[in-house]
Formats: sequence, C-alpha cells, structure tokens
Amino acid sequence: QAKNDGRNHYRYYSSEMNVNMLERVQLEQRLRQAVIRQEFCLHYQPIVNLDDQKITGVEALIRWQEPKLGIISPDKFIPIAEETGLIEPIGEWVLQQALTDLAHWHSLGFKISMAINVSGRQLLGHDKTSFTCLLKALLQKNNIEPQYLHIEITESMLMDDTEHCMTALESIRSLGLDIYIDDFGTGYSSLSYLKRFPIAVIKIDKSFVDNMLERESDAKLIKAIVMMGQSLELKLVAEGIETHAQWKMLQALGCDYGQGYLFSQPLPAQDLESFLHQQTQSIAVSCS
Ligand code: C2E
Ligand code: MG
Ligand code: MG
Ligand code: MG
Repeated sequence: QAKNDGRNHYRYYSSEMNVNMLERVQLEQRLRQAVIRQEFCLHYQPIVNLDDQKITGVEALIRWQEPKLGIISPDKFIPIAEETGLIEPIGEWVLQQALTDLAHWHSLGFKISMAINVSGRQLLGHDKTSFTCLLKALLQKNNIEPQYLHIEITESMLMDDTEHCMTALESIRSLGLDIYIDDFGTGYSSLSYLKRFPIAVIKIDKSFVDNMLERESDAKLIKAIVMMGQSLELKLVAEGIETHAQWKMLQALGCDYGQGYLFSQPLPAQDLESFLHQQTQSIAVSCS
C-alpha cells in the first residue's frame, strides 16, 4: 500500500514537472519568435519630486504582447531571457527604443531623464566592454547628454561577480551615467558595496512602502535607509507609492523622489507625452 502511494506520488509529481517544463519550453520558443517579430513595447512610469510632484524622469518598463497569450509581465519572461541569453538582443532593443523616445521628448523641450533596468548578463555579457560601447554609441546617435540616462541594477548583481561588476560599473560611470540600486533592502544585507561601487541613487523597495503606515518597523526601516543614504550623499527614490498618506510620510522622512500609481501608472509613450504636456500646462496655469 505504502509502496503504491509512493509510486503514485512520484507519478503525480513527475507529470506536474513535465507540464511546467513544457510550459517553460514553449514560452522560451515564443520568446525567440518575439525577438524576431518585435513583439515588445515599452511603458514609461513617471518619477516625481516628492516636494512638488513634478516629473523629473521616467523608468522604462518592458511589456511583451504575445499574439495568443496577451500581455506577459516582465517578471515572468525576463528570468527566461536571462537564462537563455535572449536578454542581450532584448536589452539592446530596450535601450534603442527608450533613447529614441527620450530624444523625441527632449526635442519637444521636456528635459526629463530615463532609467533603464539592466540585468547581470547584459552588464557582464560575453564581452565585458560591449555594454558600455553600446551605451556610448546610442547616446551619440540620439544626441543625448549622458546625465539624462540612468542604469538600474539590483544588489544581488553586485555580489555575483564583484570584480567584473566593478569594472563594468566604473566604465558606465565614466561615461557620465548615474547608477541606481533597484529594490533596495530585498537582496543581500552587506552594505559596504554602497561605498565601494559608484552608486548615486537608492530605490527603496515597494514592499517597505506597502506597510509603512501599518507597521512601525517598516517605517523605521525606511527612516534608517533614508538617513544612511543621506550620509553617503546618495539620492533616494521610493517605489510603489499608492496613497497620499504614504507620499506625505516619505516626504517627511526626507525621501527625495517617488514613483507609484498615486502619481501615475506606467504609460505607453504617447500617453506619457500627454502627461508631460498636461503637467506643463498645469504649472503654467498655477504660475499665471
Ligand atoms: P522594477 O524595476 O522594480 O519596476 C517596478 C515595478 O513596480 C514595475 O513592474 C511597475 O509597474 C511596478 N509598480 C510601480 N508603481 C507601482 C504601484 O504603485 N503599485 C504596484 N502594485 N506596482 C507598481 P513591472 O513593470 O511589472 O516590472 C517588473 C520588473 O521587471 C521590474 O521591477 C524589473 O525588475 C523588470 N523589468 C522591467 N522592464 C525591464 C527591462 O527592460 N529590462 C530588464 N532587465 N528588466 C526589466
Ligand atoms: Mg527598476
Ligand atoms: Mg524596483
Ligand atoms: Mg522589482
């Protein structure tokens, strides 16, 4: 009896695994096609100054419009893209598209900045200098000053391949780009890297912002992160601000910038442009 159960259990498990494997293999195949057929688009989420709600920049967030499955979230396909190496052509497309859109907004007089998410494999790809070369070429091609482009990386990337990471980040920094730490507080706890690596901005993870009003420990943690950031002369961005109360509390704690549904969801390029026009209009109105 026990033996039978064991076998059934095993069979159940393995068929479950096969389904996941199948799903995964299919998604991987579809992702290869998606690169060829260009099924991606970028949405842009405003990053605002917490003092006056004015937009200072945007973060580019990729979307995959799969013909049969609909929109697939980056949390689902970016890990596959990283494992398969497809992140290199995808990441290159992201940079090209984002810089083309940014150049257009600059030409309209909106001098905002652009933050791009970059994964480890892109940064440290087969050829260590290729990512920096790509950045440099695209900045030149689109005639964008480097201080308007920001690169977002995560804490865990710094721990994976510290030496190479340092070289890559320093060459990016020497181009004049700022480096942001994304999802701060969710990865490794060693903080020494904040001083060793050329980092300019910390993005406080949404998970702390979510509960900061209900949980005193989360509010205290944010306070500590802000104070640490300030003493290291780093700027702070809070992610995932959804309520007025969260905004006011983050502002009171000394956080500089914010991003979240309260201010705006990530928007298609055309809608972001309307957002920029609206904002200058409302500023013009409030000044007159
Ligand atoms: P992330 O860089 O931490 O981006 C912030 C995520 O939080 C985005 O999810 C954004 O839509 C979401 N968000 C922003 N404000 C709010 C809010 O107020 N409430 C809620 N519930 N969510 C909010 P998204 O667009 O699904 O992206 C997920 C992750 O995928 C990103 O996290 C980033 O790690 C990765 N990703 C996105 N685009 C790219 C890309 O072009 N390249 C790479 N390598 N990774 C990307
Ligand atoms: Mg990000
Ligand atoms: Mg984040
Ligand atoms: Mg995230």
